Order: sequence, then C-alpha cells, then structure tokens
Amino acid sequence: MQEIVGEGLARRLVEWGVDTVFGLPGDGINGLMEGFRRQRERLRFVLVHHEEAAAFMATGYAKATGRIGVCVATSGPGAIHLLNGLYDAKLDHVPVLAITGMQETSVLGSHYQQEVHTALLFQDVAEAYNLMVTNPLQVPGVVDIAIRHALARRSVAHLTFPNDVQVAAVGEDPYRHVSPGVPPASSAVVSQPPVAPAQVDLARAAEVLNAGKRVAMLVGVGARHARDEVLAVAEALASPIVKTLPGKLVVPDDHPLTTGGLGLLGTKPSEELMEECDTLLMVGTSFPYGKYLPAPGQAKVVQIDIDASLIGLRLPVEAAVTADAKLALQQLLPMLQARSDRSFLTKYQRARDAWRADMIALQDPGRDPIAPQYLISCIDAAATSDAILTCDSGTIATWAARHWTIRGGREFYLSGNLATMAPGLPYAIAMQHAFPGRQVIAFVGDGGFAMLMAEFLTAVRHELPIKVVINNNNSYGQILWEQIVLGYPEYAVRHRQPEADFGAWARACGGYGVKVTDPKAVPDAIRGALAHPGPALVDCDVNPDEPPMPGKVRYEQAKHFTEAFLRGQPHKVATLATVARDKINELRS
Ligand code: FAD
Repeated sequence: MQEIVGEGLARRLVEWGVDTVFGLPGDGINGLMEGFRRQRERLRFVLVHHEEAAAFMATGYAKATGRIGVCVATSGPGAIHLLNGLYDAKLDHVPVLAITGMQETSVLGSHYQQEVHTALLFQDVAEAYNLMVTNPLQVPGVVDIAIRHALARRSVAHLTFPNDVQVAAVGEDPYRHVSPGVPPASSAVVSQPPVAPAQVDLARAAEVLNAGKRVAMLVGVGARHARDEVLAVAEALASPIVKTLPGKLVVPDDHPLTTGGLGLLGTKPSEELMEECDTLLMVGTSFPYGKYLPAPGQAKVVQIDIDASLIGLRLPVEAAVTADAKLALQQLLPMLQARSDRSFLTKYQRARDAWRADMIALQDPGRDPIAPQYLISCIDAAATSDAILTCDSGTIATWAARHWTIRGGREFYLSGNLATMAPGLPYAIAMQHAFPGRQVIAFVGDGGFAMLMAEFLTAVRHELPIKVVINNNNSYGQILWEQIVLGYPEYAVRHRQPEADFGAWARACGGYGVKVTDPKAVPDAIRGALAHPGPALVDCDVNPDEPPMPGKVRYEQAKHFTEAFLRGQPHKVATLATVARDKINELRS
C-alpha cells in the first residue's frame, strides 16, 4: 500500500517516541486518521468526546512526563475547540504539538464550508511553530522542525494539513521546481542539554546571598527536578522555602524547611516571610502576584531561571542566573557560607506549625453541610504515597493547596497561568495513560466537571482507573467570594436547584459512582472509590458558604466583606455562620 502523508506524519511521531495522541476525527482529517490507523500498533489514539479535552490531555501529558504532548482535531470547529487547552500549554510553558485539518487546497479562498484558516487562528497560541503544509514533500521534515521548536521553546507548535495533502503519496511533488531549494532533509533528533550557569553570574548570586541576614527562597515548578538541591541550598542559607502553587510538588509539604504556598491560596507565614526577608532567592518561578512579593527596595533578589527573558518580570534583580535550576543550585552550594544564626528560619518554622494546626482544625468531620477542607483531608489521608492529584480553577484550588499534602512521590497539577476551569478530569485521563500503575485523582468542582463531564465516559471506555472527587457546592464558589470581597452582593454565581447527581452520571457511563451528603459517609466513600479497580467518582455535596479565606485577611478585604453584607448579600446567615465557625475552629486549635 502506498504511504500517504497522513501515515508519514504518524510514522514520524512514532520515530520521535510519541506513543499517545489525543483527538477526535472529522471530515477535515480523514487522511490523517487513516495514517494513525496504519500506525495503530505503535501509536495509541485516545478518542475523546470534545477537542478541548484532547488539548488538555496533551498538555497534562506533557506536564507530567516532560515529553511532548500531541493532540489532533478536524478543520474549523474541531480546531477551534482545541484553543483553550493549547493556551494552557503555552502559558505554563510545556511542549505540545497540535495537528489540525484544512479544506483541500483547490477550494481555499472560496468561502468553502468550515473554511477557518487555522494557521491564522493559531498564530498567537502556536508561538513555537505554525505552518500549513501545502506540499507532501514537506513531510516529515516540517514535523521534525515543529517538534524541535515545541521542545526547545517549551510551547505550542501547530501543523495544519489540507485534505488533499493528507491523502497524497509521501514523496509526491505536485509542482515544478523553480528554485535551488530542496525539501527539508531532517531526522527525529533534538539535543537539549541542561543550560549551565555562567560562573560570573553564580559568583554575584553567592555574594548577594552570603550578605543577606534574612534570606527566603521562592521556588516554582521550574525546580521540580531539583528537590535535593533546593533543600540543600535552603539548609545552607538557613532559609525557609516558599512554594508557588504549581511548585507545590517541588518540596514535601511536611518538610521542616517549607512554609508552604504564597498568594491568596498560600499560608500566613509565607506571606509574612515575604514582608520581612531582606534577600530573596527565586528559583524556576514566574509567580505573578507582585502584591505578595517583597516591596520594591525591601529585599535583594537573586533569580535563577532557564529562560533569560522571564527573569526580572516582577522585581528588580541584583543577580540573574540563566540556567537550569538543578545545575545552578549544585554549583551555587559550595559558594555559600555556612550560617550559625538560624533564628529567622526557626521563627518561621514555629509560625508554620501554628498555621498547620489552624488548617487541621478546619478539617472538622463534625460539620454539616460537609466542609470542603474535610473532604480533601479524607482524600489526603487515603491516597497512596505516589498519588497524582489534578485540580481545576475555583475554590477547590484553595482546598487542594492547603490540605493536599505532598509527601514521598506525590504530585499536583492544575492550570497555573491560564487558570482555566475544566482541565482536572482530562489531565487525570492523560496522566493515567502515562502512568498506568499510579493512583490518579481529579479533585474538581461541579462547575469545572460539568464543562467536560463526557470525558468520564472516555475514562470508562479506555478502562482507566482514574478517581474523580467532586467538591459540589452547586455554585461558582471562587467568584461568589470575589464578588463579596469586592463589596458587591453575590450575583448569578449559584445554580438553581436541583443539584446534579454526578454519581448517577458515573454509573450511567458504566463506572462506579456515589453521591455523598452525610459527613459521616465521606471517609468510606473516598476509600471505596480509591479501592475500586476501575474509574470511580464521588460526588460530594459540600457547604456552599465555605469561604476560601486568604492566609492573612487584609483590612480592605474585611471592610468590603462587611459592606457586601450591609448591601443585601443573600444567604447572610449561612455565610456568617460558616465564617464565624472557621474562626472558632482556628482559635480552638
Ligand atoms: P510558571 O509560571 O510556569 O513558571 C515556571 C518558571 O520556571 C518559568 O519561568 C520557567 O522558565 C522556569 N523553568 C522551567 N524549567 C526550568 C529549569 N529546568 N530550570 C530553571 N527554571 C526553569 N499560584 C500561587 O503561587 N499562589 C496562589 O495563591 C495561586 N492562586 C491560584 C488560584 C487559582 C484558582 C489558579 C488556577 C491558579 C493559582 N495560582 C497561584 C497559579 C498562578 O496563577 C501561577 O500559575 C503560578 O504562581 C506560577 O507558578 P510557577 O512560577 O511555579 O510556574
């Protein structure tokens, strides 16, 4: 059988080591689908229910494996559906190749059905590489170039194939040659050595750090492969480690050197630490919230990042080190002077212990309606020591940030910089494909789950034993609280009754599903779902009036909160009761 371009593409992906492609067929990619069919023994095609989920899966796959993620969609609407998931990859700096279809070349420009010029549409998101393939001779060369760009730039590459090109014979040249150029001769090879630091940069960094009296570290997901080095440098500097939310997995939450997260979802000691430090070492982070960083002029900043263009985004930097985090920290360590004064660290270790006690107090099993903090604490207690937790945007991110404990080989993923709803479930599916032996749990809200809930069916159909736990507050809880804190009464953030029973949906899909409304039933429901050999879902009704409080409540926030109540905040009694009870629980601890 003559090899067509679709197969040439699929074969080249295999040569790059790609083993899984996430997508949905359509009449704009029949030639590509035939190519995937012919390579089906070596390339798994994960058939999804919505292209947005396919893009999230490719992104999640790339986040968890460090390898390129690949997603496929048809022309027009299918390609458009990919966009949100692709922006997640772009903003969180992970390599993804998106493959789409186009109308055949002969009809382009004729207002043809589904004539959406995807290369134009993807111009912004596909910052690494973006091309419409118009000659079969370009394959496989441009596939190599696209993948190398995505890997080198840690971002999105996009190739779109017109229908007629997809089914043309590989090596067929429809045109007469008029230039000395020849089609790209290429191979499935890339070289990506870790970027080594310049000695002069390290010397400056060591000088600044050695001069600091109150040193803090802010560590992001770019340091995920450098846990030992982060801990060793923190130990040498007697510096507490603050983690970004995506950087939660870098250092175990129960390690004595960390004060936990920073920001709205962070901890009070981390926030106070940033207010007090005189020197800040930032490693592998683009933490966006300047309000939570030291005030300008307060601290001298050393920043290590693999991308020179991302250094100095939020604070003026005294010493910039463009390098891989692991290499830079390894080489920095012997240049640091040992410290005898550990009082700054000890102070924040005490504050951290007090904060943890506050958090444990909020995990109160006696509360009815169920406290979301209790729900996540039950997951935390029952999950394995190498479990992966995926999460969505919303109040669930707060509960996961504070009550999901990274220890051992546990991991945590969410859409950090795009902060989109709905990736939790598709991420879990992709990560379970990547790590079949591990426990993968999607901790999602009812809002995010409802957006892409058909993908639970994907999990069942692919026999993936993912676990889904829905923190069901029947509302857009994060926004509800944001409205109140701004001083506005809540509006259009709560769904009308009836509440959905997503447990019934899971069972209808052929999976395991339960609905939980009684706090006493939570531990068994979680344990039962985790023990179930196949896909399982627990839909848990939680208190919709539970506030995701900042680590440190500021005067302005308290003032606006009060104003919203005076202006006619509905659900006043329930909300106030919850806030008051949280405070009492904190004080009780
Ligand atoms: P990124 O922004 O992805 O930065 C990683 C950095 O590491 C990049 O600069 C990259 O170039 C660099 N890097 C990559 N590889 C290497 C390497 N090998 N060596 C060195 N450098 C490398 N985040 C918080 O921290 N606190 C919050 O309170 C918070 N609230 C949120 C609430 C919600 C609902 C959601 C959805 C998100 C929230 N986030 C929060 C996430 C936040 O928006 C940012 O995504 C996050 O702070 C950025 O984390 P990061 O710096 O670790 O990751």
